Amino acid sequence: MNIRGTVAELGEVRTVTTRYGERELAEILVKPDDDAPKTVTLWGKWTESAELLEEGMELLVTDVEESEYDGETTYATSKESYVVVEPGFLVNVTDVRSWVQCPRMYYLNKLSGIPLNYPVIKGTIVHEVFGDLLRGRELDDSIGERVEEAGLELGLLGRETEEVAGEVRQNAAAIEGWLEQGVLDDTDDWRSEYTLISERFGIKGRCDALRRGMPVELKTGKNTNRDPRFQDKIQAACYALLLQERGVPADTGTLLYTKNSALDRTEESGDLSPAKEFSIAKGLLEFVVRTRNEIAAMEFDMGVPTGYEANAKCQYCFEKDTCMVVSGRLGQESKAGQIGTPIPEHEREYFDRKYREIEEERRATHAEYAKLWKQTAEERADDDRALIDLEPAGQTQIEGGRWELRAKKTDDSVSKIREGDVVLASDGHPVDGHGELARVKRLGDEIVVTTDEPVELRRLDVYPSELSADRMLTALHDCLLKGDPRRKAVLFGEQEPEFAEQSEAYIQNNESQNAAVNLAVNAEDCALIHGPPGTGKTYTIARTIRALVEDGNRVLLSAFTNRAVDNALEALREQGFEDVIRVGTENGVREDMQDIRLEYGGDPGTRAAELKQASVVAATTATCGSRIMREQAFDVALVDEASQLTEPATLAAINLAEGFVLVGDHHQLPPVVRAENDLSESLFERLVEQYPDASVMLERQYRMAQQIQAFSSQEFYDGVLRPANGEVAGQRLADLPGVSAESLPAQLQGWVTFVEPDGRAVGNTNPEEAERVKELVSRFVGAGVQREDIGVIAPFRAQVAEISRRVPDLVAVDTVDRFQGSSKEVIIVSFVATGDLDSPIFDDYRRVNVALTRAKKALVLVGDETALRSSPLYDRMVDWAT
Ligand code: SF4
Repeated sequence: MNIRGTVAELGEVRTVTTRYGERELAEILVKPDDDAPKTVTLWGKWTESAELLEEGMELLVTDVEESEYDGETTYATSKESYVVVEPGFLVNVTDVRSWVQCPRMYYLNKLSGIPLNYPVIKGTIVHEVFGDLLRGRELDDSIGERVEEAGLELGLLGRETEEVAGEVRQNAAAIEGWLEQGVLDDTDDWRSEYTLISERFGIKGRCDALRRGMPVELKTGKNTNRDPRFQDKIQAACYALLLQERGVPADTGTLLYTKNSALDRTEESGDLSPAKEFSIAKGLLEFVVRTRNEIAAMEFDMGVPTGYEANAKCQYCFEKDTCMVVSGRLGQESKAGQIGTPIPEHEREYFDRKYREIEEERRATHAEYAKLWKQTAEERADDDRALIDLEPAGQTQIEGGRWELRAKKTDDSVSKIREGDVVLASDGHPVDGHGELARVKRLGDEIVVTTDEPVELRRLDVYPSELSADRMLTALHDCLLKGDPRRKAVLFGEQEPEFAEQSEAYIQNNESQNAAVNLAVNAEDCALIHGPPGTGKTYTIARTIRALVEDGNRVLLSAFTNRAVDNALEALREQGFEDVIRVGTENGVREDMQDIRLEYGGDPGTRAAELKQASVVAATTATCGSRIMREQAFDVALVDEASQLTEPATLAAINLAEGFVLVGDHHQLPPVVRAENDLSESLFERLVEQYPDASVMLERQYRMAQQIQAFSSQEFYDGVLRPANGEVAGQRLADLPGVSAESLPAQLQGWVTFVEPDGRAVGNTNPEEAERVKELVSRFVGAGVQREDIGVIAPFRAQVAEISRRVPDLVAVDTVDRFQGSSKEVIIVSFVATGDLDSPIFDDYRRVNVALTRAKKALVLVGDETALRSSPLYDRMVDWAT
């Protein structure tokens, strides 16, 4: 049996004499969720994990031995047992590897991310070639293509194609030679890149390859010893552990040191064979789990390792300089010692606070992972986290040896999954079954995804990525440890932003837009542009960028979403500006911006020059945290949607420039985070409040009729927001071609209408209300309004699905979050709730603001008056709409 629960009481580790001699034990009281507390005795080496425990931690003891003693049942670890501390915390296999090298190295890697350097890029290429060879590709084709694909990165590192191809070929010779040495025969069964997630051990990772079910890891370095390096063994042993959990008896690991084949026998001594095998016994697997437990326990307290926890020798450590600098700057204890001046106390306090918040976000992401096995397929589908019951409709091998998988949906369910997302594609269960990481190419009745290996496509699951937590952490590190002192003084309230005093007429006929451009151009440090809905924010951004470039600045244009980046680019190009490069994936960048998208593949020199020479580079803030962008330098970073970004995510963009301009509206949607902490406050909001003189609010809106904007202006913008002109203020549906407003019922002829459908909320749906929305849509369509001019907003995805089923395809139906940044001639809002507004979704006034400010000419609010009037804000809204 397994015992899993919360640690309620800790016994001391003590030594007892048994018939096998002296042994250590620790007794732990564990409280399972659905059972009576049990005292479990941890024997032998497992007491090391017992010493890591704290009350409140989660503990799993597998294969517990049950015995009767004095009429009582006792529980103890058996020979087969594993003890797992905080199994819900998913430790990466690569983290276990760096921890065994030195726990502090694990921490340093987390902070500084993977840099852009030649060994890293070459290593990636060799890994890709390895995968290609396993998939049966020709070596030369593979090398040619993989080196070409890395053109941009190689160019930024000043490398030439031929030179790199030559080095990769030397490494690949080890792989090829090994494959040809008869190691493989007909019984061999290979597969490359295998994603493994373990619920039981709290470990996840991606194994380079499996051969006859045994893990194979590729290392691009050399190793002339007979045995694999210890940390490499540990990495392979982690995968063996995860494979054993799936019933694969993996007891041998292979390490392939590809540089060995490039070594000259006359100069090097030792064992030059690239492939080194080792056997994996239970003792090594137990060591892996105990090491993993050390990481999980330290992360429980969000501790910082010093290096003293292990025996690593600092004089041989290639991270020694970094280690000492980080220790010196952050005032941390370290075995290597410290160099450099500590950052000021308030910066240190900020670092600690944000570090904690980001790690809480990571934990929340792990909780999302756990739902992969805690929820049933149906529960995940109901939560919009999965598309299930798909019917496989074919598998085709595509270029690069990858696979394109197709499946048909068997119902009209919806999910959070979007085209371009990385998801888990599986034959029925992403963890217990065969699951592969996949990229979604098309979502519709037919679903198309691409994967490394084929799988029967029966289910797609949201894949919770830690990438955003990783990038926030490196941005925090770069800002605090590498940032300019004056920039930090402004960020942390030590120095007011300064401005030059020049004034130019950049924009005619709109004072606040012109003031915003002037503010940005004159900013010595930063400027903040507050843009309520429809106020011409995108136009102002484009004009600001042009003005900055005219002044000789190199500008980074960034935003939270690809959509906002592309919208700003569109405006910039409409204003005749073309000296711009778009950095992003083919899937992420809009069709009409593909012509300026930076290709990653190609001639290294050409690609690097394209990026380095552009006056304006445009990328999402997530991409700004990539290793390519972290190497770029700008005079000014302009960040749109800044109110939707966490502070560290904003830092990822502004770290790259000397000055910055943030554009946003903190009265619309805040940053989306999983954890409940201050990460949900944006840097934009903090700075607007801290430095009101460094901000300009755009006051004239070009979107909504006067009556539609009135409520929002009054409630959220102190009545300052107003229509740009009489035409905007008085616009009506009848102004649209082909619309006859008289054919609408009188109630729908006004600008704002309230409709009560007498429905009943069932969970997060309200079918009667959905029916009523359907009738309203057909009324508008009947009056001549184009379907694509109508939008329906509902607070819950379940109601979105309920309504989508009933209205024509071209009518956009979605949640508030999906509507931010867009507008429609007619907007219908379905509030769903009846009786009261008992859901946190209604608490955030910013959601209402976004919902009500999407409509240009007609806004219909559909809901239960009693529920809405139960809250003062919604009460005033109903007054306004009736
Ligand atoms: S320098 Fe020493 S303490 Fe720092 S990471 Fe290396 S081995 Fe660990």
